[in-house]
Amino acid sequence: MALDVSKALKNPGQVYPFTAAVALPEMEVLSDPVRFEDVRVEGEFFCTGDHRISLRADAETTAHSRCSRCLEPVEVPVRAQIDALYAKEPDPEDPDLYSFEANALELEDAVRDALLLELPLQFFCKPDCKGLCPVCGVNLNRETCTCQEGNVTTGPFSALKSIVLNDEEV
Ligand SMILES: [Zn+2]
Ligand SMILES: [Zn+2]
Repeated sequence: MALDVSKALKNPGQVYPFTAAVALPEMEVLSDPVRFEDVRVEGEFFCTGDHRISLRADAETTAHSRCSRCLEPVEVPVRAQIDALYAKEPDPEDPDLYSFEANALELEDAVRDALLLELPLQFFCKPDCKGLCPVCGVNLNRETCTCQEGNVTTGPFSALKSIVLNDEEV
């Protein structure tokens, strides 16, 4: 999805509202696969006068990933604010600039960057997800098993194990 900014470039200071639907490729975030539904973007842009375009917008979508504990699918609504400056020439003193060519402004990079900032560090299907049994792999939200009980009461590292488990809770 590219915005035509030819009019804005000819009329610096004039504000142009826009809406857009932006598709993002599936990506990996901290080793979790994340897929975004088409992102609804609504905002405005204007030319700041030196062939640069300032763009502000709200982005809204749903992110699909997997629960960090039980690996079941999880979907999370995500909203982000985009505040981006686009230039035709890269500026070594401003690494946050987005570049554009001709009169077409591509929104993907700015939209993706803004959404990634709003994602949780880890996805959980629910706050108290019990995760998978590390021994037999059953989903402890749905099933119970006796692996853990056996280890905790008879294993030589039971004390160590409970410390590790407590750490994971934090
Ligand atoms: Zn879970
Ligand atoms: Zn088990």
